[in-house]
Amino acid sequence: MTYAQVVDALKSALPTKTWTQDKGIIEPYLREWRGRWQGVTSILLLPTSTADVVIAVKICATHKTPIAIQGGNTGLVGGQMPQGEILLSTVRLNKIRDKSADNLHMICEAGVTLQTVQEAAGEMGLKFPLSLASEGSCTIGGNLSTNAGGVHVVKYGTARQLVFGVEAVLADGRIYDGLNPLRKDNTGYDLSQLLMGAEGTLGIITAASVKLFPQPKDNIRVMAAVESPAKALRLLNMVRGGNRLCMFELIPRLGMDYVTQMPDHKDPFADKYPWYVLLEWEFNGSESPQEFAENILEAAAENGLVLDAVIANSQAQSAALLALRENLSAAQKPIGTTIKHDISVPIAKVPSFIARANKAVLRHTPNCRPLPFGHLGDGNIHYNIGQPETMQPEAFMALEPEINDIVYDIVDSLGGSISAEHGIGILKKQQLSRRASPAKLQMMRQIKTALDPDGILNPRVLL
Ligand SMILES: Cc1cc2nc3c(=O)[nH]c(=O)nc-3n(C[C@H](O)[C@H](O)[C@H](O)COP(=O)(O)OP(=O)(O)OC[C@H]3O[C@@H](n4cnc5c(N)ncnc54)[C@H](O)[C@@H]3O)c2cc1C
Repeated sequence: MTYAQVVDALKSALPTKTWTQDKGIIEPYLREWRGRWQGVTSILLLPTSTADVVIAVKICATHKTPIAIQGGNTGLVGGQMPQGEILLSTVRLNKIRDKSADNLHMICEAGVTLQTVQEAAGEMGLKFPLSLASEGSCTIGGNLSTNAGGVHVVKYGTARQLVFGVEAVLADGRIYDGLNPLRKDNTGYDLSQLLMGAEGTLGIITAASVKLFPQPKDNIRVMAAVESPAKALRLLNMVRGGNRLCMFELIPRLGMDYVTQMPDHKDPFADKYPWYVLLEWEFNGSESPQEFAENILEAAAENGLVLDAVIANSQAQSAALLALRENLSAAQKPIGTTIKHDISVPIAKVPSFIARANKAVLRHTPNCRPLPFGHLGDGNIHYNIGQPETMQPEAFMALEPEINDIVYDIVDSLGGSISAEHGIGILKKQQLSRRASPAKLQMMRQIKTALDPDGILNPRVLL
């Protein structure tokens, strides 16, 4: 069968409202946040049920026709952008199927946005702690497929730690049902976990059974000014006891300069400091958050760890502090092009990574503008390098392969990872194949071949 005949077969087998070839409707699905990849497809499938997904996959499997899978289209490594494949979007798989406050679980379909999951948990008086700047658009299926991180990993873990299991349509159209919300289940391989972080290469996640948590009684957010990443690390050691700390984010002065250029973003301090830490504690006991924060910050100041601090004393101020961190990436756009890295190293090695990487990239490209920021509490730094003001964007981007090697060689030497949060997609495929151990790559290929022998699911992604 030709590709056009497969498209016709999909059109006749699926309900009319679950597919479109209207270029105007498809167009936004072919553009992504970074403006780096332009998608191409002749048909967009918008299934509304797992049964629709099964019909589509069975037709594609029979004719060995590749499918690109898309959730909220906020991915940063290009994995969701079709290059001629059938495009299957999960955004209409948007029902919450079940929820239980007693069992602390919710079963939601893959296309439910993260924000909707958080709000639905809130309506139950509970909390779903995954939190990313893209939460209004990204979907739970995309979060699990990329094993998303975000700002609360330091307390609650990454996306894969926040689910009981998933339902997925496999490459031959079979349904794997791992939704049972059991807290203990040792009956062999954890197949749901295998599907998470697989970036759509092993199955299409159609639903997830997510873990909910009691709402903390109270919380407090603080911005602390510090002298260096090393001092920030010592502060982390001082403040993380007692299971209260749920956010510990690093911001350099340059980031504060950029983000305070945005409307409604104000530097909370009168003076300028070299580094900042945004941190948040949650409280369940009877202690006063304000007193707790004041005492610990005072002690940190006495130890020479904190130069200055602002404690948010309203919801609005708390949101304003978080916005300074969450909009750092967006704030970089006006400075021109940036070469981005999303790396992790053991937490203790973050200061060393930042110092070594800054020195090395500035030696390679004088006047480039490194901006290391992000999840210090998890050892995960977004290492974005802005172009020198005097260089053309194209000339700077031409240096990307060399600069990547410089940064990733340092990451490797510190025992780190070239992708802490965003995944591999198509952006880091070459780097993964060069840097992962042969045994790891071989096992990954064997698993892919076992579950998707004809390579029809996201065929250009990851491997
Ligand atoms: C402003 C901004 C801030 C961000 N902050 C963070 C952050 O703090 N932490 C973080 O980890 N990420 C962050 N991201 C990246 C992104 O939001 C996450 O990777 C998110 O989990 C992607 O979800 P999505 O639904 O948009 O997936 P998409 O972008 O649509 O897809 C991502 C990948 O998952 C696959 N996929 C999607 N849905 C499914 C499914 N149902 N079944 C199988 N495969 C699927 C796609 O094929 C693709 O390979 C940010 C992005 C932006 C734009």
